[in-house]
Amino acid sequence: INLSLFHSAFKRRIKMEPLAKIFKEKDFWKHSFVVNENVLDPRPESELIIETVAKYFQNKKQKLNIIDLGTGSGCIAISLAKEYINSIITANDISENALNVAKRNAKKFNIGNQIKFICCDWIDIDKVYDVIVSNPPYLTISEYKNISKEIINYEPEIALIGGKDGLSCYRKLANKFPKITHSNSLCFIEIGHSQKTESIKIFEEFGMDCIDIIVDYQNYERILIFKRNIK
Ligand code: GLN
Repeated sequence: INLSLFHSAFKRRIKMEPLAKIFKEKDFWKHSFVVNENVLDPRPESELIIETVAKYFQNKKQKLNIIDLGTGSGCIAISLAKEYINSIITANDISENALNVAKRNAKKFNIGNQIKFICCDWIDIDKVYDVIVSNPPYLTISEYKNISKEIINYEPEIALIGGKDGLSCYRKLANKFPKITHSNSLCFIEIGHSQKTESIKIFEEFGMDCIDIIVDYQNYERILIFKRNIK
């Protein structure tokens, strides 16, 4: 890195711009992903989604039909594509700008033919998947107002706020799950640190049972795993 580059990076960092945004890349799971102002920087907590899918689907050669709802930078979808090389992945986002970043990342890792990107609302998803993953926006409006300037000024609001109570995406997902799962499908969902009870209740109302809860390194209940209730 030369001195003038260092100076400009330093000035941006002083204004609280995250390093990932300055250098346009962020490590996630086993790879480094391109990021920009249109996507959430991959968070270490979300690596737990990959780790947990790997725990449930140990045969990496199997052909799974996977969908990542709200893919953003594509870090989760692409990491799963690299783990499950015979799988077919669908990655959706409502933001065209975010999807462009995800597509760039897929190109970077040469897996364009393994992932299909769709720009749409979750309402429009209508196929059935073996594995569903999602890290939706889940902050409440008041939590959002209190997070650091680093996040507020440099990360897209649309990727962070889950409606007034932070749970609106879980309502949307819960509504959708019975229609896009079969009886053995598993859904891996990231939640905010105090949303376990409320979000499980929402999914149960739509016939989805929580079969496992994964705790993150801060000891927060972070990933919920759901399966269709077959009673
Ligand atoms: N964990 C993220 C944060 O604290 C929020 C991510 C999300 O809403 N999905 O910034």
